[in-house]
Amino acid sequence: MTFEQLRGKDAAHIAGTYARQQTLIESGVGATLTDAQGKELIDFSSGIGVVSVGHANPAWVRAVTEQAAKLAHVSNLYYTRPMIELAEKLCARTGMSRVFFSNSGTEANECAIKTARKYMSDHYPNERSEILCLANSFHGRTMASLSATGQPQYHKHFGPFLTGIAFAEINDIASLRKKCTGKVGAILLECIQGEGGVIPVEPDYMAAVAALCAERDILLMVDEIQTGVGRTGKFLCIEHYGVKPDLVTLAKGLGGGLPIGAVLFGEKLAATLGPGDHGSTFGANPICCAGANAVMDMIDDALLAEVTHKGDYLREKLESIPEITEVSGKGLMLGAALADGIKNSDVTAVCLERGLLLLTAKDRLRFLPPLTITKAELDAGLDILTQVFKTFQ
Ligand SMILES: *Cc1c(COP(=O)(O)O)cnc(C)c1O
Repeated sequence: MTFEQLRGKDAAHIAGTYARQQTLIESGVGATLTDAQGKELIDFSSGIGVVSVGHANPAWVRAVTEQAAKLAHVSNLYYTRPMIELAEKLCARTGMSRVFFSNSGTEANECAIKTARKYMSDHYPNERSEILCLANSFHGRTMASLSATGQPQYHKHFGPFLTGIAFAEINDIASLRKKCTGKVGAILLECIQGEGGVIPVEPDYMAAVAALCAERDILLMVDEIQTGVGRTGKFLCIEHYGVKPDLVTLAKGLGGGLPIGAVLFGEKLAATLGPGDHGSTFGANPICCAGANAVMDMIDDALLAEVTHKGDYLREKLESIPEITEVSGKGLMLGAALADGIKNSDVTAVCLERGLLLLTAKDRLRFLPPLTITKAELDAGLDILTQVFKTFQ
């Protein structure tokens, strides 16, 4: 079947929720993909930060295929080995106490929101019910996480939304203090707003959030769905701030390409959810957990040091491109602001033609390559990008 025919079938049978790029991807190895014509493409997107250890990573493939041949699924009413192993690894790595497994990022945030509500109703009944989020945030597409998403464009058409959600401005401590009323029992934020344009929370703002939380027994919940699992050169991005959260959500890079999310509970929340309070049929799926276990084993201190090193290298190269006016982010999660008159989607379209997959976030270019990308692949992608910018001069 030709690409033309496949496109027709996609349009006829798949809901039109995605504005797809005109490329059919067939396979991948490391940070290099191959399209239907056999053309190689350098992947600076890794899905959207999903394929953390690269495409067809041998250790990951082995773990997943061995588990698939052994046991694909039983209900959470029974014990399985991969989920226990993964929960232990996540707790050991982060100092958190317990884990709930979901199947996606938005589901992890739904669980976080429910947990915050239960904590408030247990400890501050009729007093606290509000969760404070940040303007320009992104927490997912289901109704509670969408309610917590501070971007009006995602809200159009879908109201009414969950009540008891308030928004403060990012990196504006006066706005934070004003919005953090007596009703607020939890704060939910991303350390670096990903979909919002790769906008980092500044250290003094994070310190102000942590101080407010400590002072008033407000829960600090960080959405590390994009920033977590080594993306910024630490296992969790919050480690850069020296702040200890009460709850962390993970997804994207955790499964190395399979759907899995995790909610990590600190001591304060370790016993908040009990039998029947929350659940998921597919949650803690053995194959997904086996893939995540392989990812966890690969993201050691040596790989984290490499992420920092490659991130610094990528940043330096991007900063030397005249059409790039600012580089934001950390490690291998970078955003590039463009000179006036250059549209990011025009740049990514030409990049794709020339063999480079690149994302956008708001009006920036966004770089989320596999953490295992080689220097040769990084340079190949940067060469394409540099050539592409010449066509915009
Ligand atoms: C992608 C993302 C989500 C949503 O994750 P899904 O797996 O698409 O549901 C939530 N929060 C952040 C910060 C994200 O980047």
